[in-house]
Amino acid sequence: MEALIMDYQTHEVRDIDVLVIGGGIAATFAAIKAKEAGARRVVQVDKGTVGKTGNSCFAAGVIHVCFPEDDLDDRLMRLTRAEGYLAQQDLIQDHLQDSYPILEDMRRYGVRLVMNPDGTYGRMAGRGAYPVVMFYSTQLMDALRQHAQAIGVEQVNRLYVSELLAGNGEVSGAVGFHQYSGDFYVFRSRSTVLATGSTYYKGIHPGQRDCTADGFGMAYRIGATLCGGEQNDQPANAMPARVDVGPGMNKWMGEGAVFRNAKGERFMERYSPKLKERSGLPQIIAFFCIEARMGRAPILMDATHLGPENMERLYQMLPLPQREFESIGVVKDGKFQKLVEFCPTGPTTRPGVVVDRSYASRTARLFAAGEACSPSAVVTGLAAAATSGARAGASAARCAHDSNGIVGDNGLVGELRERAFGPLARAGGLEPDHVLLELQEAVIPYDVLLLREGSRMERALKRVETIRDQDLPMLGAYDLHYLRLCHEMRNLVLTAELQLKAAIQRTETRNILREDYPFTDNVNWLKWIMVRKEGDRQKWWTEDIPIERYPLAPKREVELAYLWRVPRDLGIVSIQDGRVQWEFEK
Ligand SMILES: Cc1cc2nc3c(=O)[nH]c(=O)nc-3n(C[C@H](O)[C@H](O)[C@H](O)COP(=O)(O)OP(=O)(O)OC[C@H]3O[C@@H](n4cnc5c(N)ncnc54)[C@H](O)[C@@H]3O)c2cc1C
Repeated sequence: MEALIMDYQTHEVRDIDVLVIGGGIAATFAAIKAKEAGARRVVQVDKGTVGKTGNSCFAAGVIHVCFPEDDLDDRLMRLTRAEGYLAQQDLIQDHLQDSYPILEDMRRYGVRLVMNPDGTYGRMAGRGAYPVVMFYSTQLMDALRQHAQAIGVEQVNRLYVSELLAGNGEVSGAVGFHQYSGDFYVFRSRSTVLATGSTYYKGIHPGQRDCTADGFGMAYRIGATLCGGEQNDQPANAMPARVDVGPGMNKWMGEGAVFRNAKGERFMERYSPKLKERSGLPQIIAFFCIEARMGRAPILMDATHLGPENMERLYQMLPLPQREFESIGVVKDGKFQKLVEFCPTGPTTRPGVVVDRSYASRTARLFAAGEACSPSAVVTGLAAAATSGARAGASAARCAHDSNGIVGDNGLVGELRERAFGPLARAGGLEPDHVLLELQEAVIPYDVLLLREGSRMERALKRVETIRDQDLPMLGAYDLHYLRLCHEMRNLVLTAELQLKAAIQRTETRNILREDYPFTDNVNWLKWIMVRKEGDRQKWWTEDIPIERYPLAPKREVELAYLWRVPRDLGIVSIQDGRVQWEFEK
């Protein structure tokens, strides 16, 4: 194996204005907008294939856009509340303003959207209060990829970026290995956009297996400031539990599908009488967890009552999931025949890069976009990933234009190459899948990070630290495929550690249930939890949210969190000595 490693050649790709890491919607918009802003050489690198890997290409077919006729202030209020007031409201405002022009850009670039016969956008009911725009599945990312190529973006596929190249507090590119040839690549760039998505700890659904927290790991290791690992506007998605049919909840619920618990009750009517199954994901996930805690799981999606028109729209918008349902007998003769078990696909997490309004990180020449950013900066969804990508790309192009040259890297390349191929030298070591299962057992159970409690999270953290200290150093790779999996594991374990440590610190319930701290604390916790690597040390601190500078502020008070108020009012829990007591346990 040593001889093989020596055979892998090192290639230098020089003189790049903007290097974009990732192949999802954020990265592709960044690459396109960098080019439109005048960057000469734009290189986009994906560990899979641009437009065919990650979440964006598997998204469920809806885009949340703020139309000129919509009430922007109301939409800002809803997104800010969904973020539990942890949002960078100026960035969310920019996103809302940009979202309609970005939709128009998509059309210009060849994306097919559902239109009315009169040429206006066909907006339809989805989850949430505002109607959504629909697109035709994978065609969206195919069109964006092709447009980027057409305007001269150089795309490199199957190249796993393992580290950012940084020296003297500046980023000067990235390094990685090609997954077919094994060759090692050094990309030297004037500015770099990190758009590597988020993570779900490798859930069963398509896209999620490639979202492996690589960007968080890379950014952390060069000392970039990260934040928000404990919170997310979508703490998890809700999807079929045992079959991999891909996403579609938004559309199924939009067409009228309902959730039932094991007793057959349509429980969302009780918890959320107005929006019911079309409530936001934080509510749906919380109420799934409460039902499970009371022994009323599994949760089932019931779409058996949907009529021919609903089914026709579902086939149009979600052809792949519908065909998957057919293949397992859930859909037959044009109707849903059986209920489908659902569960939270989570927890999702984003200890993302802290960015300002131009999507610049706190490390010079490094920008971030999409779900590689902290959730306070970029809300989940295609539209926000696209608008942030567009701004990050334009900013990176400006940065490249203004720079004097490409900074040096203090001779780091040799060390990074050794680190990249390290697991190949331990071919008989632990398999990454073994470590993945251990990690999933520690963090995925619903009562660790979705229904939180301090001592349970401490136990999970101990397990993660053991994996970090005992398993990671023994990871071994037989070949280049396993090599990539080893690196992904390293980033996933680090991310789990950051998520748990931040979640333990946040002693309140804000968007995510915490049994030992059921109150939302707007006196002490309007704060971001930040982390950065300093030498060998992990530095943690909090920063006050500049809420007085933002349009929206909650009352500075401590109150029982809405997510606990609902079950309290329904007699499911009571609050005693500042903790949640489950009535069924009394
Ligand atoms: C099942 C599901 C359904 C969804 N449906 C919708 C929907 O209908 N509407 C909506 O608005 N939102 C939806 N979302 C959310 C939406 O898909 C995401 O918010 C959005 O796609 C994020 O885009 P992104 O570009 O930030 O990340 P991604 O699309 O995940 O892209 C990340 C990219 O980075 C690449 N990458 C990662 N690591 C490396 C590395 N080390 N080297 C090189 N490349 C790397 C990946 O290959 C990938 O191409 C859905 C999400 C899920 C999980």
